[in-house]
Amino acid sequence: MSFLSDALGRIKPSPTIAVTNKAAELKAQGKDVIGLGAGEPDFDTPDHIKDAGIEAIRSGQTKYTGVDGTPALKKAVAEKFKRENGLDYAVDQITVNSGGKHTIFNALMATVNPGDEVIIPAPYWVSYPDMVQLAGGTPVFIEATIDTGFRITAEQLDAAITPKTKWVILNSPSNPSGAAYSAEHLRTLADVLLKHPHVWILSDDMYEHIVYDDFKFATIAAVEPKLYDRTLTMNGASKAYSMTGWRIGYAGGPKQLIKAISAIQSQSTSNPCSVSQAAAVAALNGPQDFLKERAKVFQQRRDLVVKMLNDAEGITCPTPEGAFYVYPSCAGMIGKTTPDGKVLNNDEDVATYLLESVGVAVVHGAAFGLSPHFRISYATSTEVLTEACTRIQKACAVLK
Ligand code: PLP
Repeated sequence: MSFLSDALGRIKPSPTIAVTNKAAELKAQGKDVIGLGAGEPDFDTPDHIKDAGIEAIRSGQTKYTGVDGTPALKKAVAEKFKRENGLDYAVDQITVNSGGKHTIFNALMATVNPGDEVIIPAPYWVSYPDMVQLAGGTPVFIEATIDTGFRITAEQLDAAITPKTKWVILNSPSNPSGAAYSAEHLRTLADVLLKHPHVWILSDDMYEHIVYDDFKFATIAAVEPKLYDRTLTMNGASKAYSMTGWRIGYAGGPKQLIKAISAIQSQSTSNPCSVSQAAAVAALNGPQDFLKERAKVFQQRRDLVVKMLNDAEGITCPTPEGAFYVYPSCAGMIGKTTPDGKVLNNDEDVATYLLESVGVAVVHGAAFGLSPHFRISYATSTEVLTEACTRIQKACAVLK
């Protein structure tokens, strides 16, 4: 009998973290490696947020808090949802967790039974399927290909729903594709969901503030208020406020679900870090203008990367609406031979080739459920991105 649990056997370690670690390892060995795998902004946490954290330590906010958040942070989150999304959540409809990943994990643990299906559009954030499986559920994938702008259609959604469907997960802007759903597009999905009242919606809005070209962010509970009672609208401090290390995620939803999430949390992590919560209050209640400025910088980088990748032979790179990722197709590289005589059979081969031949670490598309692609995070400087894309172009040019 194995010492390890059956649940463990259903999951694999995060492939994006694996690529980041591999790049760091090669760098430590003195190799010239550019890591484009990491999913975090390169900007620092703004000073007013850091100061709030320091002040929290000094003033003794260093003890347990309420399991799913301090009253001050829950109020700030409720006000954020009202101000930015037009969504009314009472304070007891808010949960605060140790990162957005934790919010989703708790929600799935609290609701998914063996046999339950969870619809996940692919390409997907790597953690969704594993979390569903850990909870004993079955992920059901809908392919959102490059031809539909990496967005699922109403018809696809309708066809994927069965009596066993518990959740559909929507993530806009998307990690890994950067694709975002407009209010009009969400409207078409909402019409399908209205026909299936047993299906709950998890709206992962982590990249809300990183959108480009006047794209207007929309979230489904606001687009169709009739779905409010079965939607968990989740978000967090990590990407918007460059607070990945502070570990604060949050969500608004129906009271019963929020209570269930709190029950799971009360028997696992208890409250999110008290100091981080105080900092998150400052983030949500403080100035917001830097968000747009940072998005502008990301947009310039996006434009640079999209152009340089499209100039590389064998790569097709669509222009994403948001997040800080591109998800180019490398279909034109598959089947080609490297100068070492290796044939590139799939996108994992492509990623390995880019790392070994020109020292650029990207994450292969199979990790996100849609091939042949790879993901580049452009949350790094223009100089580094220019160098990385130049190397990729060179690597493509020598394929036969
Ligand atoms: N959702 C998406 C789509 C993400 O990309 C991430 C982080 O990469 C998360 C949720 C979780 O964020 P956090 O770092 O707050 O756990």
